Parts: sequence; structure tokens; C-alpha cells
Amino acid sequence: MDYEEGKGWHNAKITEYKPIELSPAATVLHYGQAVFEGLKAYATEAGEILLFRPDQNFKRLNRSNERLCIPAIDEEFALYALKELLQIDRDWVPTSEGTSLYIRPFIIATEPYLGVSPAKNYKFMIIMSPVGSYYAEGINPIKILVEQHYVRAVAGGTGEAKAGGNYASSLKGSELANAQGYAQTLWLDGKEHQYVEEVGSMNIFFKIAGKVITPALNGSILAGITRDSMINVLKSKNIPVEERKIAFLEIVEAANNGTLEEVFGTGTAAVISPVGYLKWSDGAIDVNNGQIGEVTQMLYDTLTGIQYGKLEDTFGWTIKL
Ligand code: PMP
Repeated sequence: MDYEEGKGWHNAKITEYKPIELSPAATVLHYGQAVFEGLKAYATEAGEILLFRPDQNFKRLNRSNERLCIPAIDEEFALYALKELLQIDRDWVPTSEGTSLYIRPFIIATEPYLGVSPAKNYKFMIIMSPVGSYYAEGINPIKILVEQHYVRAVAGGTGEAKAGGNYASSLKGSELANAQGYAQTLWLDGKEHQYVEEVGSMNIFFKIAGKVITPALNGSILAGITRDSMINVLKSKNIPVEERKIAFLEIVEAANNGTLEEVFGTGTAAVISPVGYLKWSDGAIDVNNGQIGEVTQMLYDTLTGIQYGKLEDTFGWTIKL
């Protein structure tokens, strides 16, 4: 679908997957006006296809649009277009255990213009690919490196948008972490380098002395849809959960006094990922002896149960195709 000033969004069509034409002067290539989303379609044993909270993805896409001066899309139309696309061939959604169809809606500025101002032309596209488990480790606990030099986002920047540039700024830290054998980077805040923000493509949760805590949304953390869903699951099970500022030192102290019980990340691609080991410049923490914790396992079972249609969706999160 294309956007043109004066004409709005138009020309919605489904085409084969192929390269697109783009002027070398397209503003996205120079000034980074690019936003995206990530969601999944799941095949149930009964042969249905389920989408998990897709309305939330298109809502967040419009919040990202707003931050990057990209014209809003019609959220209902976007969902309708996605459903039409999925109906073309239901076999696109893989059916073997743990697999799903990853869906990537995105918008780029296409106007050929050298100059820093919001573009007058855009393209909204949706591409898809079957995927398996995100980590080589599967559901086994992953190792994370705490990044203390580079930052991913700062308050007032574009951290809370799902903007391409945020991922460009995170590459260096991730590369260093990967080279040392860590699956992901834990980002700290961009101002004081003290407070926990999020992991590469996941929001992060800690269970300390029976209470689950996660950093509050502060303008530089992505408002994860899995994060919001898991907060709701925890509340529904009467497990205490708190969204607040968390100093990394608090996690170190909890580990030292034996009250750090579980650490896990949440994300569309990563699902629920237990964290078994955290390393930073002055030390390392073994979490739960490198084993998956009880609450982490419960959240994983609940989330995947709902997504694959094995558990009743009491939250009304899934859309059936
Ligand atoms: N933080 C970042 C930086 C991400 O890229 C993602 C993945 N979209 C998340 C958190 C988790 O968000 P969600 O649960 O909506 O996938």
C-alpha cells in the first residue's frame, strides 16, 4: 500500500514476493524513517490459524508512526489486509511443534529527497516467513551480557517506537555479546547506566522474594505486547507483579542475599525465555542454578497454550481464521 501527500494511503494490493523499486535518494535510506512490527500466526491441531493480539501490533505501529512523523494507517484495514493475505494459502503457517508464521508489517519513506524533513511518500508492506524456536537453546535458560558502555535508547529518543534505527544502535553491543558466547544483551538506561531497560528483542522480568518485577515503561523501553500479556496472566493468578524502575545493583543484591529466584524475557519471537546466567564487568549471577523457574514455566505454558489453541483463551487475545 502506498502513501502520497494529498492522496493518503491507497493502492493496497497483494503481490508475489519480489524486490521493490526504490530511488537511491529515498529518504528512508538517508534519514531512517522506517518503522515495523512483528507478530505471529499459529496453526492449531484443529486446523485453525490463530493470530495473537494483532490489533495491538497495528496500534503500536501507529504510535511508532506518530513518533517518526509517518502518516497513520487505518488499523482495521491493516488487520483486514493481513487476514486476506493469510487466507491465500493457509499452508504458509507451519504445523510442526513450536513453529509459527512470523509476520512483519513495516513502513518506509520512499520520497526521493535529500533534506531532513518528513517524507511525502511512503510504502506499507507485510512480509512473512515460517519460523522455529528463536534460540538455539530452545526453552533452556540463556546467557545474557549486561552492556555497560553502549546504550540502545535514551528517554525522549525513539526507544519506545519500533523504529529501525533503534536496532541499528543496538548492533554493536549485541555483536560484542554474541562474540563472547552470550545470546543477548541486557541494556541499561542511557543516562545513568544503572537502571535495567530491556534485552535485545525482549522485555525483562525478575522474580525476587516471590514478587515479579519488570521495568516500568519510561519512554525508552518498547511496550512489548507479550510483556503486557504476561503482566495480565500474573495478575489473573494472583502472583504479585510490579512495574517500576529497577537498578541493576538491586538484582546483584538480590542474587547475593539469595532472593533472586527467576529471570526471564518476553517477546513475540523469543516467547518466554528463561535467563540462567547474567554477566557484567564486575561479576556474574547464576540464576536458579541455570534451571527454568516455576513462574517462567507457567507463563510459557499459558502463553503457548493460548497461542496454539490448546488452552482456553479467557483473555480474548486470539483471532481465529
Ligand atoms: N523489546 C524490543 C526491543 C523488541 O524488539 C521486542 C520485540 N518486538 C520486544 C521488546 C518484545 O515486544 P513484543 O512482546 O511485542 O514482541
